[in-house]
Amino acid sequence: MAALGCLQRGFNGPIETRRSWNLIAAGLVLWAVGQAGLSYLSGAFDLRQMLAPTWNFFFFAYGIPIILALSSANENVGLRSFLWPDGAIAAIVVVLANLQLFSSAPGWSRLVPLSVTDLGNIYNIQNVLLACACTLRLLLSSRGEKRTIYSILSGFLWINALVWAILSSFKEMPVPIRNALWELPFLLLLTALAFWPQSHGSKVAKGTGILTVGFLVDNLSPVLLTIGVIILASEIKREHIVFKVLSMTIAVVLFGIRTAIRQSDYFRGHLQIVESQQALEEANVQLTRDAVRDGLTGAYNRRYFDQTLTEEWKRASRAQQPLSLIMVDVDHFKSLNDHYGHPTGDAVLRAIVRTLTTVLRRPNDLLARYGGEEFAVILPGTDLKGAMLVAEHMRASIEAREIPNDRSGSGRVVTLSVGVASDQPAIGGTQQELLDRVDSALYRAKSQGRNRICS
Ligand code: GH3
Ligand code: MG
Ligand code: MG
Repeated sequence: MAALGCLQRGFNGPIETRRSWNLIAAGLVLWAVGQAGLSYLSGAFDLRQMLAPTWNFFFFAYGIPIILALSSANENVGLRSFLWPDGAIAAIVVVLANLQLFSSAPGWSRLVPLSVTDLGNIYNIQNVLLACACTLRLLLSSRGEKRTIYSILSGFLWINALVWAILSSFKEMPVPIRNALWELPFLLLLTALAFWPQSHGSKVAKGTGILTVGFLVDNLSPVLLTIGVIILASEIKREHIVFKVLSMTIAVVLFGIRTAIRQSDYFRGHLQIVESQQALEEANVQLTRDAVRDGLTGAYNRRYFDQTLTEEWKRASRAQQPLSLIMVDVDHFKSLNDHYGHPTGDAVLRAIVRTLTTVLRRPNDLLARYGGEEFAVILPGTDLKGAMLVAEHMRASIEAREIPNDRSGSGRVVTLSVGVASDQPAIGGTQQELLDRVDSALYRAKSQGRNRICS
């Protein structure tokens, strides 16, 4: 009934606790099988009867699923747990212990038969070890249903350990009391399963100190199990040398597999971190790009233009170099929009930016979208003569593209009016004056008939 209670609790609870509850239920079923066998031999709890070999196996084996339910500390950091390697090592320990202690296989007879006291001690040790392991796990666990599992299981294991200690010490206890005592832990477990509230609290991140202890417990338990296999196997007599070597080898290989899987987990986690770092860097580069570029044309935006002009002005002032500005405005662009539609207008703006970009040769030259269909160019270290050459190159290359603009007065193709201004920041003047001059130069180019350059 307690096993059924665990299954039901797992079925109703959060999915990540289901395996633990199932494992505990499996342990209880193994116990129930042993108990059924014993009840068949005698009506009561009797250590003398428990020396009977077959049923003892189940009382030992019940610890395996319990141990496995306890060895899943890594849920905090999302690592896999090792049900199969750990389970196999634990199973080897139990089979070897069973063979060694109870001589249950032919040819394995013990030299000195196991006494009732030995048997009582063996189970007492097993019970206390299980209870200690569970309490440790309880202390290390964070809030949530996992913690509830460890709380309930710790209570059960300690009461069970106490009951065994009492039963194995007071052998002359009346039968009804003995039987009642033996069943007490299971009744209490069933009560706890029924009444302990289901907790849905989320996992709380623990400090790294607690995590380290958790990792230590996690990694120490399979080491101890493997050592257990080696100690037990070393006691095996010479005639079973194959069995002896085989069990040691399997245990060590399983431990190796476990370690390899864990390392691959860490490696994969590390790779994921590296990948997400790369993705972050790329996103960052894209963000930085988006912050300085105009979305439609890909030219630098107005903000970046202003920022760069200030820097270049200072630089030119320090280096005593000239600084030139070109201001470009598309002629009759409104009529192009009206005639061909805004999407075509957009495409023309993009084409203009592509063409103007190819004209600029120096790495520090900067083309920006100044406003609607106006573009501005910063030419550091370039005097008026050089800037006029670049401006003429720009104007001519747009005209040469022969982008149709039927309503345009100037030859029915898209043309540019261009203003040019240059300054020597080291000598005097201000950035704003230069901007005003280039603007009025552009205005003159417009008023003199468009598709021309003024300075
Ligand atoms: P002008 O020769 O005097 O410069 O005449 P214009 O028509 O080019 O000048 P105006 O300032 O009257 O019109 C500019 C037009 O540019 C108006 C606006 O619809 C258009 N425009 C501004 N930004 C965009 C844009 O992002 N996409 C498109 N398709 N059109 C734009
Ligand atoms: Mg304009
Ligand atoms: Mg215009």
